[in-house]
Amino acid sequence: MDALLKQFKVTADETPVVICADGRILRHPSNAELADCMDIRKPLEHTVYDLAVIGAGPAGLAAAVYGASEGLKSLVLDRMGPGGREAGHSATVECAAVFIFIGSTPHTNWLPQAIAVDGNGFVKTGMQLAESWRLRRPPFPLETSVPGVFAAGDVRCGSTKRVASAAGEGSMAVQFVHQYLASN
Ligand SMILES: Cc1cc2nc3c(=O)[nH]c(=O)nc-3n(C[C@H](O)[C@H](O)[C@H](O)COP(=O)(O)OP(=O)(O)OC[C@H]3O[C@@H](n4cnc5c(N)ncnc54)[C@H](O)[C@@H]3O)c2cc1C
Repeated sequence: MDALLKQFKVTADETPVVICADGRILRHPSNAELADCMDIRKPLEHTVYDLAVIGAGPAGLAAAVYGASEGLKSLVLDRMGPGGREAGHSATVECAAVFIFIGSTPHTNWLPQAIAVDGNGFVKTGMQLAESWRLRRPPFPLETSVPGVFAAGDVRCGSTKRVASAAGEGSMAVQFVHQYLASN
């Protein structure tokens, strides 16, 4: 590796080096520069989405991939993802269903109180809500105390806290979004 870097006159401080499709060469790029290079930093469309995914970890990405592949107009938001969007930047997005996928330390302080969490801040879903659930239908698996808002992956109370189960829950959750949308 050192020999390769020397051959191209790249110092360790300048890594990683990224060659963009348009020929630009980036040395030690920021997230925002990388996102521009990959052409994945897009302005938010003012439109109604079928699905808004918050958090682009394994759970969120799996949900987004399955949602989009199954025809749901999907939006993915991540505070640390490519583009370097900071948590302090906010936007109001109208959508029919929402997922929350935000990690093993549950960063759930920002959630409205209507979304029930356990004593450690993990989001309660499905039958964990049996006592407080008010609709005539039972909650869908992964559905939070706010109908149409789902949680999957590490942020969910009782989840396995593993990549495979997070991705599995994210994929599975799309099925319940379809059922939710069909019932509304
Ligand atoms: C040190 C360590 C080692 C691990 N090793 C293994 C292992 O070997 N095998 C294994 O299977 N699992 C392992 N795990 C667990 C695994 O990483 C998690 O189970 C998995 O990443 C959970 O995926 P997730 O999508 O639920 O959450 P995360 O991967 O945590 O993704 C959450 C995403 O949400 C974003 N986010 C957070 N808050 C907001 C917000 N307010 N707005 C927008 N976006 C937000 C974050 O930026 C992040 O991208 C490990 C975890 C740790 C910490």
